Amino acid sequence: MMDLDEEYYMYKTDKSDDIQYEFLSSEDLKTEMTTIIENVKAMLQYPSGICRILLQQHKWSNQLLLDKFYENPDPNDFLAKCGLLPEGSVIVSEEQECPICCISGKLFGLACNHMACVDCWSAYIDGKMKAKRSEIECMQLDCKLLMVDEKVTEFIKDASIYEDVIINSYVKTHKTLRWCPETCRTAVRVKTPVHSLISCPCGVNYCFTCGNEGHEPINCRLLRKWLRRCQDDNSSYKWLNANTKDCPTCQTPIEKTGGCNHMTCQKCKKHFCWLCLTPWNLRHDCSR
Ligand SMILES: [Zn+2]
Ligand SMILES: [Zn+2]
Ligand SMILES: [Zn+2]
Ligand SMILES: [Zn+2]
Ligand SMILES: [Zn+2]
Ligand SMILES: [Zn+2]
Repeated sequence: MMDLDEEYYMYKTDKSDDIQYEFLSSEDLKTEMTTIIENVKAMLQYPSGICRILLQQHKWSNQLLLDKFYENPDPNDFLAKCGLLPEGSVIVSEEQECPICCISGKLFGLACNHMACVDCWSAYIDGKMKAKRSEIECMQLDCKLLMVDEKVTEFIKDASIYEDVIINSYVKTHKTLRWCPETCRTAVRVKTPVHSLISCPCGVNYCFTCGNEGHEPINCRLLRKWLRRCQDDNSSYKWLNANTKDCPTCQTPIEKTGGCNHMTCQKCKKHFCWLCLTPWNLRHDCSR
């Protein structure tokens, strides 16, 4: 068990190496992602949507992805392992009953032939957007085929929502990136992911490691302990409020334990009613 001084010292040493960081807007991040995608696209000759998913699955490391790709003698086999097919076209059927909502209409599906109507696909993808999932599998439960980005956007009204989900995944994948905890949509990139205080251009100071408000001089672990303690104190305080009242005569806190409203103060021995706090007598009838 470390004491505070020791932790304080550790924090100081963390801070002593000169930490540099840069701020990035959503737009900056998008440009950065596009550059990486274009790079991979030039090498592998797949559509952007496929390259984006492959990169996301390989920690956005160009090198890692290409290594894995060329390790595999069969490119289609590699894609299949990643839940992808080289041609990501959406199949459209003639008028038919949707197996999910049972309403007749044109049905759509991926190359796996699992078909559903446009409303069912939209509702399904909407749910995935809310769960912030950037890789979306086919609607069929046991089907692992992924829907490429170009197809996903065909089923949602606002493509920028999906774009945000993708950028979020990008930030999450990088240990050196973190969003500002406020809503300014500014991310920060640090040189090394160590404890450092970030002063966002929006005015918020936060800790890079845990994302909480700046907490000098204690470290993240101590802060977490402290926050948990506050939470506990807060809940016992609430409990206290609901179960104790001050004696109307001497103001001593009285705890209500049983169901009876007839209270006797342990200190001044006065009898009173728990509900209306007036003196108790045999005829007291408090029906509040
Ligand atoms: Zn349907
Ligand atoms: Zn499927
Ligand atoms: Zn901010
Ligand atoms: Zn922290
Ligand atoms: Zn009393
Ligand atoms: Zn009463």
